Amino acid sequence: MEFYTVLSIFFVVLTTLFGIVIGSFLNVVIYRIPEGRTIVKGHSMCMSCGHELGALDLVPVFSWLFLGGKCRYCKAPIASRYIKIESFTGLVFLTFSLGHISYQLDILNLYDKMHLVLFGAYCVNLLVLASLVSSMMIYYDKKRSFYGYCVFSGCAAVLLSACTVLLSSFKAAAAYLLISVSVALIIVGIIALFSKILRKKYTKTDFWLDLPFAFYYAYFGKMSIGYEYSLIASVMLFILPRLILKDTKYDKYTAIVSTCGLVLVNIIGFIINQFFDNLLVSFLVF
Ligand SMILES: [Zn+2]
Repeated sequence: MEFYTVLSIFFVVLTTLFGIVIGSFLNVVIYRIPEGRTIVKGHSMCMSCGHELGALDLVPVFSWLFLGGKCRYCKAPIASRYIKIESFTGLVFLTFSLGHISYQLDILNLYDKMHLVLFGAYCVNLLVLASLVSSMMIYYDKKRSFYGYCVFSGCAAVLLSACTVLLSSFKAAAAYLLISVSVALIIVGIIALFSKILRKKYTKTDFWLDLPFAFYYAYFGKMSIGYEYSLIASVMLFILPRLILKDTKYDKYTAIVSTCGLVLVNIIGFIINQFFDNLLVSFLVF
């Protein structure tokens, strides 16, 4: 096998494994954030017997498979959703890394300033994808959304803007951010309008759920190298949780409305794209 092929496989596998580990952390986030508990401190424990879990019980995916989906101490079955969320996050990261395959040799060349910045941007993008996974899951569990995800996306966007400043100019970064915020708000407006047409009430909860997704689409997706793949990753985030979590309160209507909304957004996004890129050419000089 060629050296580049081996390195490509290594790059994708590493990103996927990283996704699985992050997914394991997200299980904690999804469980604790709605209860207002800290995600930094405190040990994980069995939901049935309360036994504190050791390192061997907490290896993502493998512990669940190895223990046959049962608690090591009380043998109570452990819900399969943990392994589902871990593998799902791995899958989202895998999809995202595929878009970067042809560029990974550049990204991994960390001795050069530009490539170091690109690698930083890659990692920031993955973290935003992870935050969207947990945002979606909390919504499906509790029918709640948090503006905190917008704050998180906003901070990540500032970080990524700093990357753009390093690679291009301050003017380009500011213009890009401003356009993206506007596009995100337009997208949310369209989804709200779409809900209204379908006679579904558009609540504050819907707004805080949709805004980070729209912003991901408008800013991070566009910012990443493999644009089509980050788009596939965001589509997966909208649809797959509904398919893999059959045991939760499945809201068919919400699923249909947001899936239609997403399709519509992508069509509009495609049209805006032409305009958007022409506008950006005048600012971005890479
Ligand atoms: Zn137990």
